Amino acid sequence: MRSMIPDYLAEVLHDCAADASGAVADYIPELARADPDQLAVALATVDGHVYAVGDHDVPFSIQSISKPFAYALALTDHGFDAVLAKVGVEPSGEAFNELSLESGTGRPLNPMINAGALTTYTLIGSVGLDDDERFERARGALSAFAGRELVVDEAVYASESQTSFRNRALAYILRAQDIVPDPDAAVAGYTRMCSLQVTARDLALMAATFANNGIQPLTGERLVGPDVVRQVLSVMTTCGMYDAAGDWVSTVGIPAKSGVSGGIIGALPGQLGVATFSPRLDAHGNSVRGVELCNRLSRDMGLHMMEVPPPARSVMRASRSIDLPEGRAARIYALQGVVTFTGAERVVSTVVAEDPWEDTVVLDLARVHTINDVARRMLLELVRRLAGDDRRVVLVDPEEVLPDPDAGDGVRPEVVQVLDGDPVGGA
Ligand code: GLU
Repeated sequence: MRSMIPDYLAEVLHDCAADASGAVADYIPELARADPDQLAVALATVDGHVYAVGDHDVPFSIQSISKPFAYALALTDHGFDAVLAKVGVEPSGEAFNELSLESGTGRPLNPMINAGALTTYTLIGSVGLDDDERFERARGALSAFAGRELVVDEAVYASESQTSFRNRALAYILRAQDIVPDPDAAVAGYTRMCSLQVTARDLALMAATFANNGIQPLTGERLVGPDVVRQVLSVMTTCGMYDAAGDWVSTVGIPAKSGVSGGIIGALPGQLGVATFSPRLDAHGNSVRGVELCNRLSRDMGLHMMEVPPPARSVMRASRSIDLPEGRAARIYALQGVVTFTGAERVVSTVVAEDPWEDTVVLDLARVHTINDVARRMLLELVRRLAGDDRRVVLVDPEEVLPDPDAGDGVRPEVVQVLDGDPVGGA
């Protein structure tokens, strides 16, 4: 049997193919040579399954889609404080190549506009790196996101370098504000990074690495930490689609970044990375058919980030009472899935409402996948309070999803793999 996903993607591609509106970017002369009819869509899941149709193996220059990755590297290499001191996180509402600086500090408003990205480029790698080493850190890291070695499209680099007067002007003003150290090096390195060749397939995997909390789905390598991913995806959400961010968030609802060569990436946390490629751009600078493809995928596949099932409802699998062998009774709360604040709240409120009469209370975690930090603290506090009410508390935790269950005040619940005497145990 064949998966239905490539068939579905081919159908969506076919439906969007006819739209020939928009125009290929020509302010970088080499980009004007792109075949405007090229069209691709690729999906990569956090498990590393890649589905790609159309011109998904055609290389094109990454352009501004490099910006979120440059930002992630700067945050990783220099830390949040140093980066935030130089680049803000506010949407500019202006074109990507405007000099959008914050009044007072002179910081570029965000890392997704050129002024911001020129700055974050200079914060990649450790302070002492020379220009070649800094570029190599950027190229190597973007390659690790893609899962293969990326190379520079020298024709695009030369073409943009000959015409990058505006970026040079931005960099010189940033130098005057003491934001970038060497404006020529910043423009050269940033332009080279923008000239790295990628395919739609590469971009889907790069986006999926963000969706997978910083771990490349195919290589399993951790490239950036969860705190960095959260920051980058937040800024992509508010500033990623040039000055059309509001429209994008309300319709497609996926943290995204587009570039003037016609690519778009979207990273849906915990689920997938998506990439489209179609060179004709709309008035905002976003790929016309790329936006249409993403709209359609989001709608058909329920990908809007504000459209999530309530996980709390499914956390409590069962509450039941059993007789234990030694003539005692136990109340078993069987949990399942991923437990976060609202799931833990549901457990706590159920226990409080039921006020179990049994002398033993069992939290059965055998079917729990993960417990986040706040839920862990709440469940341990529940254990402490139950112990304070003279209840014996037992955790069924074969996978150690709640390791080292120290509830405080010297309270440690018994931890077992299976509960003796539970006829349903584990079912
Ligand atoms: N290298 C391009 C520039 O700085 C990137 C622009 C873009 O993709 O938005 O003009």
